[in-house]
Amino acid sequence: MNDEPEMVTDAERKMQFLYALRSKGVTDNQVLGAMEAVDRGPFIRGLFAERAYEDMPLPIACGQTISQPSVVGLMTQALEISPRDKVLEIGTGSGYQAAILSKLARRVYTIDRHRRLVHEARVIFDALDLNNITAITADGSHGLPEQAPFDRIIVTAAAEDPPGPLLAQLKEGGIMVLPVGQSDAVQHLIRVRKTADGLKYDEMRAVRFVPLLEGLGKEA
Ligand code: SAH
Repeated sequence: MNDEPEMVTDAERKMQFLYALRSKGVTDNQVLGAMEAVDRGPFIRGLFAERAYEDMPLPIACGQTISQPSVVGLMTQALEISPRDKVLEIGTGSGYQAAILSKLARRVYTIDRHRRLVHEARVIFDALDLNNITAITADGSHGLPEQAPFDRIIVTAAAEDPPGPLLAQLKEGGIMVLPVGQSDAVQHLIRVRKTADGLKYDEMRAVRFVPLLEGLGKEA
């Protein structure tokens, strides 16, 4: 035995990261492949950068958080994305979730109410050559009417109910995944399928997301 700190190689860190995802129920190989391909490191700056490969949410700029990788995986898996899909994300945050979506879908539109987050995410998308993502500063609760309808919609901030405009902008046959519930109480991930017979809801696990807020963010 010696007192040297144990060295963890990049390959080992990646294996641990994927193992944690699998053990929390992320089993879809396409999703795991996308999460293996996109390094979470660049999406986290400063103090917490070294914890990028742990399965935990971390603080980012503007008082927001990058979601826990296993939650990103479960939400992505629940979307059942196919390569021709046009996807809308509300809540760009760090851009990590959008980057994962971009590996699975044809086109990703992602909206955040904080201009600074959108700007920083764009810089990373460019650096990583993710050319099928359009990042927009706006209040995403109105959706993106000029690009609607969408095959898939994901909301990564919690509302009390699924916003009406987003349900309206979902294609028939489409799927939307979002957390619902009050921001200071228990929230649940739900999946909404839009069928010819109407909307079908199923409830997934309990989660904790920052709230979906109205209007644009005040810049720090
Ligand atoms: N998906 C992100 C994490 C999102 S954190 C990631 O992968 O890192 C939730 C984000 O939702 C925050 O950045 C917050 O600014 C944004 N948000 C909250 N309300 C919003 C709204 N009405 N429209 C657009 N973005 C909103």
